Amino acid sequence: MNNVNPKSLIVIFGATGDLAKRKLFPSIYRLYQKGKLSEEFAVVGVARRPLSNDEFRRYVSQSVEDSTKQELSDPSFVSRFYYHSLDVTSAASYQELKTLLERLEETYRIPGNRIFYLAMAPEFFGTITSHLKSEGLTATNGWKRLVIEKPFGHDVKSAQQLNKEIRQSFSEKEIFRIDHYLGKEMVQNIEVIRFANAIFEPLWNNRFIANIQITSSETLGVEDRGRYYDHSGALRDMVQNHMLQMVALLAMEPPIKLTTDDIRNEKVKVLRALRPITHDEVDQYFVRGQYGRGFIRGQEVVGYREENSVDPQSNTETFVAGKLMIDNFRWAGVPFYIRTGKRMTEKSTKIVVQFKDVPMNLYYRTSEHVHPNLLVIHIQPDEGITLHLNAKKSGESMKTTPIKLDYCNNCIDGINTPEAYEKLLYDCMRGDATNFTHWDEVAASWSFVDPISEVWANTKAADFPNYEAGSMGPKKADELLQKDGFHWWPLNGTM
Ligand code: NAP
Repeated sequence: MNNVNPKSLIVIFGATGDLAKRKLFPSIYRLYQKGKLSEEFAVVGVARRPLSNDEFRRYVSQSVEDSTKQELSDPSFVSRFYYHSLDVTSAASYQELKTLLERLEETYRIPGNRIFYLAMAPEFFGTITSHLKSEGLTATNGWKRLVIEKPFGHDVKSAQQLNKEIRQSFSEKEIFRIDHYLGKEMVQNIEVIRFANAIFEPLWNNRFIANIQITSSETLGVEDRGRYYDHSGALRDMVQNHMLQMVALLAMEPPIKLTTDDIRNEKVKVLRALRPITHDEVDQYFVRGQYGRGFIRGQEVVGYREENSVDPQSNTETFVAGKLMIDNFRWAGVPFYIRTGKRMTEKSTKIVVQFKDVPMNLYYRTSEHVHPNLLVIHIQPDEGITLHLNAKKSGESMKTTPIKLDYCNNCIDGINTPEAYEKLLYDCMRGDATNFTHWDEVAASWSFVDPISEVWANTKAADFPNYEAGSMGPKKADELLQKDGFHWWPLNGTM
């Protein structure tokens, strides 16, 4: 691990797809520009449609230019891209791919280090990995790594089956399961904020924290992902992976060292300590929503059931709010509220840590109330932290006023935060699996989520659609916190 310019051959399955175009090629380009790739690297794109190397290189250039909004300054970058047309379901065509990989490894003096990046629908994962092994592509002199996209199964059973299939060809240490939230700068910053600041860690427990709120809201609807999304829904698409990963990072114990295994062990312990929700308790802890028509920034938009490739009677949730309890010494009694949805008021991912009130309000005669202290971690699009405190109101005798201490990570001139995919690809090349999800985390997350999705799949939501596009979700999501005497902190302006 940690060799600075890793020598590797990257094979991207699904190279003509949306993910490769929008995220992977631009990320490889940025790594190249920053000098993070050695001279010994090449990329092979794989998909069914017939393309020549030149056509593929033009396609890659275009994707980079679309992303950087600039003309590609160094055309030698794309000369390292090759294309191989192949139907991944046909074993026979893998032999030609093998020959191509061997030839490129010789040309670019790559010592047999191969990354197989599966940017394709998950139904192909098992087939591809089994063919990679049976046709000898995994038998290499260097290292081999498999990168797979979400979703990893649709419940614990299907995830176990998928894991069994890919483990026939790759060991757990060779599997890099992408959760792109783990590549985000401020998600990676959660650990540093917690473990490098003496003022937070002593307070980071049920004696001083009243609740923690995590919101990930989007203004977009399902766009052209209706076919996938209508079978997935917000619980599987966002909660099982991204939201629970953020909960784990916020709640874990300090790792013994910052090694991959030590951090993952602590995260897994949190996921295992989540209080299981039985079928009967789902309504008590979780709220589902589906957007109807409404307005986003003044523009009228259609309801979910009217979107392309969506069942007009769809029972799929586009919004989830939930209350999670972590039954361990540190967190007993502290609710973690999560909320995520499409077509909400604004695009924002934020974590709000609400501290408990001071034991006694000395200022109640002069001020309406003393505001609770909040630590807000802005994940996206803003990146930074805000600490909400109380101070004396200028001039007025002993009246309190809330003040904010702000740190904005992406406002500083010259800091251009690397894209999550750029960091994750680089980590994978260096063999650092810290910011990828281990199988134990995947299994524990599905085990938590499964009872909820079972209940929702088997009961029709009579009130769907139950929130207007452009709102912050259904009323019941607010009631979930009101029952405990809390409310969602607003995401805009005041935060
Ligand atoms: P996509 O746009 O539908 O692309 C699918 C790719 O697979 C295309 O390149 C297609 O090319 C290729 N393909 C399909 N069947 C094939 C076959 N039998 N043999 C060989 N190639 C085949 O999908 P995507 O949006 O890029 O998503 C890819 C994966 O990333 C999925 O697992 C998705 O859930 C995940 N993901 C995507 C995003 C995103 O922003 N797009 C975000 C997070 C996760 P041909 O038609 O030429 O064969």
